[in-house]
Amino acid sequence: MKYILYARKSSEDKSKQILSLESQVSEMKKLAANLGLVIDLVYTESKSAKLPNNRPIFLKMVKLLENTKEDYGILCWKIDRLSRNPIDSGKIQWLLQQGKIKAIQTSDRQYLPSDNVLLLNIEGSMANQYILDLSKNVKRGILTKIEKGLWPNFAPIGYLNDGKGGIVVDRIRARYIKKIFKLYATGNYTMKELANLMYDKGFRSRGNVKYHKSKIYKLINDSFYCGIMRFHGKEYEGKHETLISKKLYADCQKVMTEKQHPKKKQPHFHFRGLMICAKCGCLLTATRKKNRYVYYYCTNGRGGCSEHNHYLTQKEVIKALSGVFDHLFINEDEVERMHDNSLELLINHNPDNQEYLESKNHLLNEIKKRENRKEELFNLRLDKKISPKDYESRETIIKNEIKDFNDALKKLENEQEVVLTKETLELTKKFFLAPKSMKKAFFKISLNDKQKMLNQILWNSEIANKKLAKINFKEPFEALANYAENPDIDKLRRGRDSNPGYP
Ligand SMILES: [Zn+2]
Repeated sequence: MKYILYARKSSEDKSKQILSLESQVSEMKKLAANLGLVIDLVYTESKSAKLPNNRPIFLKMVKLLENTKEDYGILCWKIDRLSRNPIDSGKIQWLLQQGKIKAIQTSDRQYLPSDNVLLLNIEGSMANQYILDLSKNVKRGILTKIEKGLWPNFAPIGYLNDGKGGIVVDRIRARYIKKIFKLYATGNYTMKELANLMYDKGFRSRGNVKYHKSKIYKLINDSFYCGIMRFHGKEYEGKHETLISKKLYADCQKVMTEKQHPKKKQPHFHFRGLMICAKCGCLLTATRKKNRYVYYYCTNGRGGCSEHNHYLTQKEVIKALSGVFDHLFINEDEVERMHDNSLELLINHNPDNQEYLESKNHLLNEIKKRENRKEELFNLRLDKKISPKDYESRETIIKNEIKDFNDALKKLENEQEVVLTKETLELTKKFFLAPKSMKKAFFKISLNDKQKMLNQILWNSEIANKKLAKINFKEPFEALANYAENPDIDKLRRGRDSNPGYP
């Protein structure tokens, strides 16, 4: 296969980002040498590509491609050098699809007949409905490819496009990449040091230049090497051969975060942010005295607060905050009664639910039956009553059936998201009864866990005389606290009717 080098710069391309014709040609020649591509023809043109059929040289090239029996690819610096309007892009796209162009190689990627992505690269100003519709289809095409675990783009360094839509390991560069990850994970190297070290050892980009630290940074950040492909903010499991393990990748990310945000050795105060001074409304902050004892006190941000010099020990703070649970206790009999009432409502007044529960139970039963059958089958095999071959084929059948039932179950559950079920009622009951055991646990768990627990329940609560004076509950504890204060089943039920899925 031979290549046509096409370079274009018009007077409207004022941006300094766009290389001169000479530079485009020399860059592409360099790239061709690196990738081992043969250049057969060089076309240069100084015309705008915004209007269709405006470029004689381009049209000449298209004509040649349409009529030739040779295998041709196109080499151009950026895809927008080739076309910036839908008509010309369509021509290129069509030639590509028909295989009259075997590949388009630009400085940063390769377009193959299977790719079908050329139209995506037309400038925004030209994006009329025609293009939008096409792009949608194209994107869908890319998505199916990526969902199959195949990479739809130019292969990252360390890999090569195999020309058939797949990618293979670039054995020469792959060993450098493995080394980069390994060394970086030790934490003993900066990106710059790695860039220099690898350069000395012979690592070069596909354009045969040094891989600078910014590129090393990108490389270490790229989960592609451990098999995870990121595409438009989503992650996909790739089918390509990995260069490193997921563990090594994670280790490198950890090193990177630590290097970027060295841990500050600031004392950590667990309960700061939960309490405000009841007198002045300022946040309570903390200090450590004699390097050991933690005290909380009003920051006195507005000045003149009489509480400012009243310090609370950590122990006193814990005692005060533990008072939060007392506001959440609900009589157990009450909760039971509420649960039974709701269950009755659920079953008698919601035929959909009834049907759902029946279907679900049916599926669960079928699954259980097959699990038992699998077990029996296994026992038969243990007793050598069936041949390995028989065992395998029968097991496969059962496994497939289980999978089908599980799929059906998932589908059913997804459709049933919003409606109250027995399970959610059960959870609700547990939630109503939880505060008692939470209070018990609160005194036994670590400071970190205390902080986590409290953070779920309250914020900016007022402290006066070493006690909780006014608690700001977070949802759903707010609802629980309200109910505990004023237990009224009817009220709650009415509330639920208008708002299923309480609390
Ligand atoms: Zn105060």
